[in-house]
Order: sequence, then C-alpha cells, then structure tokens
Amino acid sequence: MNIVFATNNPHKIRELQALLPSYIKLVSLEEIGCLEDIPETQDTIKGNAIQKADYIQQHYGLDCFADDTGLEVFALDGAPGVYSARYAGPQRNSEDNMNLLLSKLELKDQRSAQFKTVIALHFQGKLVTFEGICEGEITKAKRGTDGFGYDPIFQPTDHINTFAELSLTEKNRIGHRGKAVTKLVSYFKTALN
Ligand code: IMP
Repeated sequence: MNIVFATNNPHKIRELQALLPSYIKLVSLEEIGCLEDIPETQDTIKGNAIQKADYIQQHYGLDCFADDTGLEVFALDGAPGVYSARYAGPQRNSEDNMNLLLSKLELKDQRSAQFKTVIALHFQGKLVTFEGICEGEITKAKRGTDGFGYDPIFQPTDHINTFAELSLTEKNRIGHRGKAVTKLVSYFKTALN
C-alpha cells in the first residue's frame, strides 16, 4: 500500500519508513508532483498537521498523512512550540534556532522541555490524529552530529546523550515522532485487517 507523507524532508522519510511495516510504502510530495509550499498557518501543532493533511487530500485527492512537531520549553512558556521551525527567523535555519534557544536559556536553571509531534491522517474517508511526546531538557551546549533540527541540544529524560548522539533506532524508540508513528502503525494494522 502506498501512502503520501506530506513532507520533502528526507530525514523524516527515512525515520518513518524504518518504523513502518514493509507493505506500507511512503510517497513523498515530490513524487506526487507537489512542489508548492503547503500552508502552515495555524497556531497549534495539531492545527498545522491537520491543515497540511487537508491540503493534500483536497488538492490531490490522495490518502495521506502529515506531521507537525514543536519543541516546548517550560521556562519559556512553551516557546518555541508551533514556531519551532522559524524561531530565529524565516530562513528556518537549525543552527540559528539552536543558538537563539541556548541564549534565551543562558541564565536559567530550569531547562525542562518536551518535543511534541501530532500526525494527522486522511484514510478511508476519515481524519484521525495521533500525538507523541518526549520529555527531556535543553543542554547547555550542542552535542552530537546525528539527526537534525534541535537534536544536538535535546537530552531525553533518563538518558546521558542528546538525540544527536543516539542511534536512529534508539531515537525512534523513545522519541516523540516514534511514539506518534507507533499509534499510526497500529491504526493501519487494525484498519487493514
Ligand atoms: P516540523 O514540524 O517538522 O516542520 O518541525 C518544526 C521544527 O522542529 C523544525 O525546526 C525541525 O527542525 C524541528 N524538529 C522536528 N522534529 C525534530 C526532531 O525529531 N528533532 C529535532 N528537531 C526537530
């Protein structure tokens, strides 16, 4: 079964394909000829996930799912949250975003944070959503070279490594996206049985 994953981020496709049973093949936006920017104008993570999945369903008539992720930092009242991608500006640059976050937390001892992913799925005429959360803290400096985005400064609870120092398998096992995808996979398994 082919299903559109509303992203062109190869890291995400790789992370997700590794979690899915082999009979589910992910199709990227590029593969369906969707080269335009999909609007993400909602003020919640869930709202953005739904908006992206709705867009593909309405414009391309295909079953699809979309995810949206935010990093919520306790001492910053949940920021950057839904604005995580463009926290340091419209250039959406991960190094800039991490540097800004580290500077905002420079004098703070309270460094608790959580990643939240919401997946919105259009499948067999229904829209459903799945949430995954991973709790942790923001480190004082970047560590590690794997992963993407804020991975080098996020250390999940009960781990001594940042996401960027963990293997993809371990990140998927404990991570926000992995947890949301596990729910997505169980939904597919039930729906396809
Ligand atoms: P998006 O929802 O995938 O657009 O992600 C929003 C922001 O969070 C972007 O800056 C991403 O780089 C970042 N992000 C998303 N997922 C992860 C992750 O698993 N680790 C680190 N950063 C992430």
